[in-house]
Amino acid sequence: CGIVGIYAHDQVAPDLYDSMIQLQHRGQDAAGIITCNERFHVKKGMGLVQDIFEQRHMERLRGSIGIGHTRYPTSGTHSNDEVQPLWTSVPNGIAFAHNGNVVNYQEMRREVQENRKRYLNSHSDSEMLLQLFADELHRRIGAGPASSLADRAFFEALFSSMAELFYRIAGAVSAVMLIKDRGLVAMRDPHGLRPLVYGQRELPDGRVDHIFASEDTMFYMLGYRRVRDVLPGEIIYIASDRQVFTRRLAPKAFTPCIFEYVYFARPDAMLNNVNVYRSRLRMGENLGKAWKETFPEVSPDVIIPAPATANTVALSMARELGVNYSEGLYKNPFIGRTFIMPNQEKRRQSVRYKLSPQELELRNKDVLIVDDSIVRGTTSKEIVQMVREFGARRVYFASACPPVTQPCYYGVDIPTSEELIASVSTEAEIQEYLGADLLLYQPLEYLVEAVTRKGDHHIDTPCTACLGGDYIHKLDQEEMKRCVS
Ligand code: 5GP
Ligand code: SF4
Repeated sequence: CGIVGIYAHDQVAPDLYDSMIQLQHRGQDAAGIITCNERFHVKKGMGLVQDIFEQRHMERLRGSIGIGHTRYPTSGTHSNDEVQPLWTSVPNGIAFAHNGNVVNYQEMRREVQENRKRYLNSHSDSEMLLQLFADELHRRIGAGPASSLADRAFFEALFSSMAELFYRIAGAVSAVMLIKDRGLVAMRDPHGLRPLVYGQRELPDGRVDHIFASEDTMFYMLGYRRVRDVLPGEIIYIASDRQVFTRRLAPKAFTPCIFEYVYFARPDAMLNNVNVYRSRLRMGENLGKAWKETFPEVSPDVIIPAPATANTVALSMARELGVNYSEGLYKNPFIGRTFIMPNQEKRRQSVRYKLSPQELELRNKDVLIVDDSIVRGTTSKEIVQMVREFGARRVYFASACPPVTQPCYYGVDIPTSEELIASVSTEAEIQEYLGADLLLYQPLEYLVEAVTRKGDHHIDTPCTACLGGDYIHKLDQEEMKRCVS
């Protein structure tokens, strides 16, 4: 999902809308905005941002503070009333937008409903998180109008509520919260699994606007400068006089998701102080090295990316191998990502629908196709077939990501193990299934090296659980089923 929160000095809805257009790639299933002046204003809907918000909605979304969410469908959340941001009126009006997934949801759901007597309307982990946080805050500040508390005291209550939250829940949480009459809050789980970036915009009169977003892809456009990432385990509170309060929980291993760099994030984003585009160039370089080590005798005539995420990887792999790069598959930009569609039959039909091969780039050539990842394998298989139909002599396939063997329990919609081709087949079987003459997967340590080589970052080791690495949390069977259903 994509989240954004802005505390400005003028109407905030237009900037939230523009931000969500820049976060659309992180979720195309549903979207919503909540703003606040004397009260909350809410507009949510299913589908793309541009189809949900009309002029009349924007005029209604009054206030200089607000949050927005673009939804990517993962566990539990497919229905209309679970569209974020969510809000609750106790203790004094909290709106909440979340990217990630809670892995001990069932246990915490019982805790929230049975022990804390807070009724949950849905099976969304985000609603549970909101109610748990609201309950903790309520215990600290009481039910009355919280505006009488000094900002410092309110921040103490926020911080200890967050500490309690992360003491109890396990999983990935990057969240923004709008607290009525009090300000804007951003927080990130102690392992920093999902990204969250902080920016500021100085107005001509010296006042400062604040933004938090999953990616900094809208900062330049809206006149914000990137300040830094929200740190793992950190809470940042922008009070109503725009004073900034911040504190961190005791550090744990910083393990941000590696898949953000492989596929999910936009290339112009800088996450955890690592530039996504540059990391993809390094992935291509490393993939080129792996190719030379594995197939020293084989040099393709041309390297063609499966568009469009893999273009960057293919470009630098071609440079590394001294082979021509060609965009031999044209991708229609008006068709959504196939992965997002609900069933496999549709996906299968849609590869040809959205990719168009260019015969002159393919005929009588030894073609190396490069993709960012092989998930189910159906896309790759069709691409190989298409390239053959257009006269390629040999078709090789390389994936910038190692075999995807396990589901993600931290908010990325990777299918169940049975559907993951690398989980049920050997590499030789995958090569045969794809119909490729050679198949190369990037070795895991080469991928990790590509992501962590440069940048002034503090990543301990990225999460690689879906690539055969360890899950950071212990998972129980019930949760594992829920997360991938
Ligand atoms: P598959 O192997 O499942 O047929 O498709 C893999 C392709 O789907 C890759 O080209 C990748 O870019 C694309 N893709 C689209 N959405 C996702 C996603 O959420 N996760 C992964 N791993 N790949 C995705
Ligand atoms: Fe990212 Fe994979 Fe870890 Fe999920 S399991 S957070 S997709 S690296």
